[in-house]
Amino acid sequence: MRIVVALGGNALARAGGKGSWSEAVGQMELAAPVLAQVVGRGHELILTHGNGPQVGRLLRQDELAEGEVPFLPIHVLVAESAGQIGYLIQEALAPALRRVRARRTVVPFVCRMEVAPTDPAFRRPTKPVGRYYSDSEARRLRRDARWTMALDRSRGGWRRLLPSPRPRRWLEGRTVRDWLERGFGQSCVPVVTGGGGVPVVARGRGRYDGVEAVIDKDLAAALVARQLNADVLVIATDVPGIALGFRSASPVWLRKASLRQLGAAATRGEFDPGSMGPKVEAVTEFVRRTGRVAIVTEISSLVRALDGGAGTTVSRL
Ligand code: ADP
Ligand code: MG
Repeated sequence: MRIVVALGGNALARAGGKGSWSEAVGQMELAAPVLAQVVGRGHELILTHGNGPQVGRLLRQDELAEGEVPFLPIHVLVAESAGQIGYLIQEALAPALRRVRARRTVVPFVCRMEVAPTDPAFRRPTKPVGRYYSDSEARRLRRDARWTMALDRSRGGWRRLLPSPRPRRWLEGRTVRDWLERGFGQSCVPVVTGGGGVPVVARGRGRYDGVEAVIDKDLAAALVARQLNADVLVIATDVPGIALGFRSASPVWLRKASLRQLGAAATRGEFDPGSMGPKVEAVTEFVRRTGRVAIVTEISSLVRALDGGAGTTVSRL
């Protein structure tokens, strides 16, 4: 089978950690044996991943260097984060692959994702990035930097909001698919569209310009899975799967879900817009358009989830 796995932030960084490199490697080493087991079964494995904390860190570094080193645009930071995380995955996954005697090389790609310049997201930024700011800092940044900012009452601070346009086309997708069709998936593990891919808009004559936006990694993963003709899309995260009544005293974890069931639950507002919402949207889109299955699972249960013994498996019926 050809399996696309999207790794969430928790596979890459420990919640509440200091953010050191050795900590990131240690965290990724927890996910690596499970990913290697999938490869050990002979499946083709294609990885993608989020980049929220890593981009937040790059933004902070830019902020601290202000006046000395010019700011880099967000799309460049997305490309940087994909390089950094791709390398992290190489460090941790390569030895795990060796242990299962899989002769595969982890190969990260810097990927561009085309978005529409007319996407309504550009007029209404929704995705929080970077650190929390005080009232007075927020006032200054809105005025001077013209940032859109939102108050997060639970954390008592302001955050910058960026547009999160829908991914339309993965520019390098056809090439990666051609390679897979030639058997490349048996000799390597491609890491693609990290952080949702670098958001670009078409300017004509083969030219694409980066834009100040971030693409949801789950929606990008659904597009990748379709463009690569994957058999299964897996969204690996930090909860056992999709729950109904998630915030209630007794959440019900779904082992199986149909598109109709998920649609009805989404209408009732069961899925938070910044977390489970895009995952449900991503799996729904993949399943609806391909008739194949998609899985939401905790990374540690990945292998069992592929056998239907853990996670939530979403299918048309
Ligand atoms: P990732 O970094 O893997 O993308 P997110 O934090 O974006 O992770 O999304 C996973 C989170 O979604 C869970 O930790 C959980 O708090 C939240 N969540 C919201 N609604 C639900 C639901 N109905 N079922 C399961 N998890 C939910
Ligand atoms: Mg997320």
